[in-house]
Amino acid sequence: MFAAYQLFTTFAPMQEKKDIRTLSKSELREFFETNGDKAFRGDQVYDWLWSKGLHSFDEMTNLPKKTREMLDNNFVIKHIEVDMMQRSSDGTIKNAVRLHDGLLVESVLIPTETRTTACVSSQVGCSLNCTFCATARLKRMRNLLPDEIFDQVKVIDSQSRMFFNRPLSNIVFMGMGEPLMNYNNVLAAIEKITSEEGLGMSPKRITVSTSGIPKLIKKMADDDVKFKLAVSLHSAIDQVRTSIMPFNEKFPLTELREALEYWYKKTKNRITYEYVVWKDINDKKKDVEALIKFCRFAPSKVNLIEYNPIGEDGFAQADSTAIEMYQNMLEEAGITVTVRKSRGKDIDAACGQLANKKVKN
Ligand code: SAH
Repeated sequence: MFAAYQLFTTFAPMQEKKDIRTLSKSELREFFETNGDKAFRGDQVYDWLWSKGLHSFDEMTNLPKKTREMLDNNFVIKHIEVDMMQRSSDGTIKNAVRLHDGLLVESVLIPTETRTTACVSSQVGCSLNCTFCATARLKRMRNLLPDEIFDQVKVIDSQSRMFFNRPLSNIVFMGMGEPLMNYNNVLAAIEKITSEEGLGMSPKRITVSTSGIPKLIKKMADDDVKFKLAVSLHSAIDQVRTSIMPFNEKFPLTELREALEYWYKKTKNRITYEYVVWKDINDKKKDVEALIKFCRFAPSKVNLIEYNPIGEDGFAQADSTAIEMYQNMLEEAGITVTVRKSRGKDIDAACGQLANKKVKN
């Protein structure tokens, strides 16, 4: 008898406690009801978890001790930790964020005179292989969960309040990973960020940036999303684009363009193109002509972003004359164009530089 009991205790698998943040509000209410408590406790807990961002049941002070203990016996609250925070001379803050399983991602706070923008990661590493991007050197390890994305935003919102005395105003999915390759979790996170119970942020202040996966751009249009879309184009000539973004071979520009037309017809939302001009890669007149031809079908904005060197041979920022040529030709074609300076370069927080330098691979 004793031996059998011992065997049981030794070999019975320890049941892993569920992460309470995977439960919806109605599931939380149901949990309390089926456990002989009041359903409204579910609302209270939901508020602590999502609005107040608590990481321990003990701090949920409007719950009786018995209820807190019951929660502790049944659930864990998985959450992220800021492992290291770096501040750039231009005010940009980069966070190395540790996930519950020890993996790291990075998220960045970018302040300007009037705004604070959070640049968040959607995956650990990236499965796309853009040759100019530091994140591409890390293999894709996993998708981030909705709450891991939400938490990055929450952390940056707190930092914005602490260091700049104002709440976070904008979010861009331009950190590590390809957001559309983690479609469901990214949309679930945005749902949470925009909901009144989360951060109540307007979806118009959120931009999802993609390398351009045609069928998922169409899916976003079908799903009637309200956030903004940015496409990292970098070249409107297939041969050039494939040489720097090899997955373009699988999703050539005609398909991307068709998906974007579909997006525009459904959403009537302007499309932003992210575009780096490199010396001897895409700095000629024919490159600008191809770009104009590509994006003319809908109101568009081209962000000419500065190249942030990552030590890759063959890539150098184009001369200022090439940038001016792009600006002039695009403006003449009636396309909005902005030239963006990099932020946070001194701490490797600029576009394409996020690669967990701290981590030895
Ligand atoms: N996968 C998504 C989001 C992450 S990359 C996407 O491709 O849009 C965020 C932006 O940084 C993209 O526009 C990307 O093309 C750009 N980028 C990547 N490496 C860069 C570098 N070294 N210098 C400047 N921009 C870079």
